[in-house]
Amino acid sequence: MKTTKISSKLLNLIKQSSSFLIVGHINPEGDSIGSSLALALGLKKLGKKDICVLSKDPVPENLKFLPWARTIKRRRPAREFDVVVLVDCNSMERTGFETFRARKTAIIDHHVLPAETAKSPFYTSLSAGIIDPGAAAAGLLVFKVLKALKVELDKTIATNLYAAILIDTGGFRYSNSSPESLKTACHLVEAGASPWNISKEIFENIPFRGLKLLGLTLATLERKDGIAWITTTEDMFRETGTTSEDCEEFVDFPRKVKGAEVAIFFRQAGENVYKLSLRSKGKVNVRKIAKSFGGGGHDAAAGCKVTGSLKEVQNKVLKVARKALKETK
Ligand code: 5GP
Ligand code: MN
Repeated sequence: MKTTKISSKLLNLIKQSSSFLIVGHINPEGDSIGSSLALALGLKKLGKKDICVLSKDPVPENLKFLPWARTIKRRRPAREFDVVVLVDCNSMERTGFETFRARKTAIIDHHVLPAETAKSPFYTSLSAGIIDPGAAAAGLLVFKVLKALKVELDKTIATNLYAAILIDTGGFRYSNSSPESLKTACHLVEAGASPWNISKEIFENIPFRGLKLLGLTLATLERKDGIAWITTTEDMFRETGTTSEDCEEFVDFPRKVKGAEVAIFFRQAGENVYKLSLRSKGKVNVRKIAKSFGGGGHDAAAGCKVTGSLKEVQNKVLKVARKALKETK
């Protein structure tokens, strides 16, 4: 079993600091929110008093049940912190903020570090961190950090960490549902996380309007050459009274198509802008496809923004995806 080494530099930094700004990524999901909150709650248990969890974008409706989710701030506090910890992301850009007032910077993340970020002053001045793309979720890394700090898990921490792992393993279905993910989930359930209550809140809780939007979106389903895709337009959002938050899981549907190796979700995000979610069933590295459009993510789940009319965007992206698929044959 592969295990991440928890940097002693990070543990010392945490031990020696007293104020913490914890920041996840834009468009946050369960791993970003759950890991950030679990870290905050764990640090509180260590006696740290000044902790602020920050998220540029609001907490999605179906994650508001997470313990302490309501304490998450959208605006940066004016005061300076000892440490800012980036969780589930590894660049300023992904946090959605330009700067933070903090003496030290740390990262706890499981995304591949882009070469440009590794060279940036932000990264070279980093005080400590763990970046392990082999970890199924940032939540697994936070779990290990808390364990190394000898924090005793309670129901609030366990619930947040379980939600983080549940989301990033697709409900323990993806290839990252490793012995480590499952064993950690077992510890979390023993510590008080309730699998059904958490799954119910996250998966069985779609607003009616969201399913209406899914209906309109599924009507756009197309497939060609092992690629399946769907599109949500701004007109559809208007018609159903929904927002981008209502299509968080839509990309799962083209991935379900038999014979599809690559799934793409095109979400209109402005007059001539589309936010893409890409998924692979294993053969194609969709992070590389997303990277060629300035995005990133994981080998099997990635995203990017592409400008142009819908037709232009689809032509550009499908061409790259087709090429990537051909190269696997
Ligand atoms: P999603 O498709 O669910 O928005 O994102 C899938 C994965 O790709 C996530 O790990 C997310 O962090 C990453 N991702 C999504 N959009 C972008 C983007 O524009 N830039 C980068 N670097 N990563 C992204
Ligand atoms: Mn994650």
